[in-house]
Amino acid sequence: IVDGANGRIYLDPSEQDLASAHAHMAEQRALQERVSAQRGLPAITTDGVRIEVCANVNLPEQVPLALSQGAEGVGLMRTEFLFLERGSTPGEDEQYETYRAMAQALEGRPLIVRALDIGGDKQVAHLELPREDNPFLGVRGARLLLRRPDLLEPQMRALYRAACDGARLSVMFPMVTSVQELLALRAACERLRAELDAPVLPLGIMIEVPAAAVQADALARHADFFSIGTNDLTQYVLAMDRQNPQLAAEADSLHPAVLRMVRATVQGAATCARPVGVCGGLAGDPFGALLLAGLGVGELSMTPNDIAGVKAGLRGASLRQLQALADRALGCEDAAQVRELAKEVTA
Ligand code: PEP
Ligand code: MG
Repeated sequence: IVDGANGRIYLDPSEQDLASAHAHMAEQRALQERVSAQRGLPAITTDGVRIEVCANVNLPEQVPLALSQGAEGVGLMRTEFLFLERGSTPGEDEQYETYRAMAQALEGRPLIVRALDIGGDKQVAHLELPREDNPFLGVRGARLLLRRPDLLEPQMRALYRAACDGARLSVMFPMVTSVQELLALRAACERLRAELDAPVLPLGIMIEVPAAAVQADALARHADFFSIGTNDLTQYVLAMDRQNPQLAAEADSLHPAVLRMVRATVQGAATCARPVGVCGGLAGDPFGALLLAGLGVGELSMTPNDIAGVKAGLRGASLRQLQALADRALGCEDAAQVRELAKEVTA
């Protein structure tokens, strides 16, 4: 018996164990069917607060499935996949077609396109970037974009051209560490926008680096929105490689240190009334989503499969309850204690 939820394997189960596992599976299936039937409804808490629930989708042809799963938009389009899944760099025209098709498939729903996040775990052989001893701490994300206008400019031009055609989209930059980087990116975007006489697009940043979370108030003066990447934020807060299987159990996004960074981000954003979303894996975890809503996050973006469960959970609680839950989680000593709180809300 493989118990994926609890990370356990039972060898040589007895007839009785098998019968109880089958009963549990049937119960889970029934629950899933109930939850799934309501996936088209908005995630409104019992005290009337709506949390926007979007999908992480990389290609236009994946949009219909995401919408059928209850997505209200796309909160993260990882554009590096246009580069990673092939042996060459897509040109400006090809990117433009893709962004336009993405917006068309969404029929006016929100779309957040992430500018190229290359480096770290996302190595692109055909770009022939210099080898780094420590790629996660190296020239990745925004740091690469600022050094490589030949990557940033065609992408931004393609996005602005799509906007000229009426695509409703926002753009965000990955791995931003400082105000200076954000200002340099904004200046480059504004120059390209003016050249094309394109509409102004909301320009946001991902919060993935502890420095950005701690300085969220300063960044909020210059960013139109934040989207927290809990996958990277967790690895940088805990100094644990997200790809190291030996650390997988400890590199837990529910660690109170990570949650405190989320809180700092929300508080910083509030100083300039900037919206905060989360597009890392924690957003798609039913309990994680409740905590994030309680911490003040207003938009959650996840793998389409996770949407129904997250929406159902949010509809079953009041924001006041979730705020109290989040406060308790912030006071926990470790991720295990935070996980214990899940029993109270899901019981
Ligand atoms: C993240 O870091 O949480 C994130 C959403 O970006 P990626 O997983 O693509 O690094
Ligand atoms: Mg990331």
